[in-house]
Amino acid sequence: MKKSYQKQWVGVFGDPVDDNPTVVMEQAAFDAEHTGMAYLTIQVKEGDLKAAMDGMRAMNFTGINITMPHKGAVLPYLDEISESAGIMGAVNTVYRKDGKLVGENTDGKGFLRSLQDENIPIQGQKAVILGAGGAARAIAVELAGAGIHTVTVINRDETRGQALADILNKHTSAHGVFIPWKGAAVIPADTDILVNATPVGFTDDNKPDLAYDSLKAGMIACDVIPNKVWTAFLLEAKARGLRTLNGLQMLVNQGAIAYELWTGKPAPVAVMRQAMENEYQVKLSF
Ligand code: NDP
Repeated sequence: MKKSYQKQWVGVFGDPVDDNPTVVMEQAAFDAEHTGMAYLTIQVKEGDLKAAMDGMRAMNFTGINITMPHKGAVLPYLDEISESAGIMGAVNTVYRKDGKLVGENTDGKGFLRSLQDENIPIQGQKAVILGAGGAARAIAVELAGAGIHTVTVINRDETRGQALADILNKHTSAHGVFIPWKGAAVIPADTDILVNATPVGFTDDNKPDLAYDSLKAGMIACDVIPNKVWTAFLLEAKARGLRTLNGLQMLVNQGAIAYELWTGKPAPVAVMRQAMENEYQVKLSF
């Protein structure tokens, strides 16, 4: 067989980007599957995104992850955008299809796959999402696409929170409701799926300001925090008898979906999970 010295490049553009761990699981997957692909973690400053996108086209990158602050700004530099990424107004994964650069958002899809891993029903259910930023938007739109009945958004900033409820009501079949977050938020008793989509707990052991007595054992508590299996929020929910789902599982699953878009093949999820377990010295159960 003819030897090739050429790599197929993928990576991530962001700023800051040095703490982005995606390379760990993607490179482990590429190597395990002998794809000849390499993942680069690249700082792209705010005003340099156009040049970076032109560059990745010119250098024939297979695709790229997009992280803050470029998830919305990248849209004009793409040839196509998936329907859900268009509704969210945010792209985190770019891949090539028929020579075109296509934008997708795998964050919410990774969350959905995590629910599916655990056989948690979505159709007709009621979700409450804490926060209304990028992760909240991605999760809300994908839950809506999967047939959730209601998504209640609880957020401090009323404009942002109402805007997310409006997006759901305007563009999806789900019912979007907004509750302003003032003091300890009470979780409606008929909630099935409760999602912390704020960064609370990422760098410390804080938990979202909730009336924790309103969490009931039949609910499922989910966290987006990607660097821990047990956040203080999930520990509190577990102590109250709730089932839990962590953000590291979502991170692995959204990375697996990106792998599939880039390679056209099923991702070696076990390899990716193991790589993140080693990285964070934790054990995942899925
Ligand atoms: P954004 O900055 O876009 O949004 C953050 C949201 O959290 C805002 O709605 C903000 O409210 C709210 N918030 C921030 N601090 C507090 C607080 N102390 N109390 C209550 N609400 C608060 O961030 P992202 O949505 O991009 O990211 C959120 C988290 O999701 C991060 O920790 C990120 O790492 C994680 N993430 C995880 C992924 C995974 O795969 N596991 C994928 C993507 C993100 P307000 O509008 O009022 O300011």
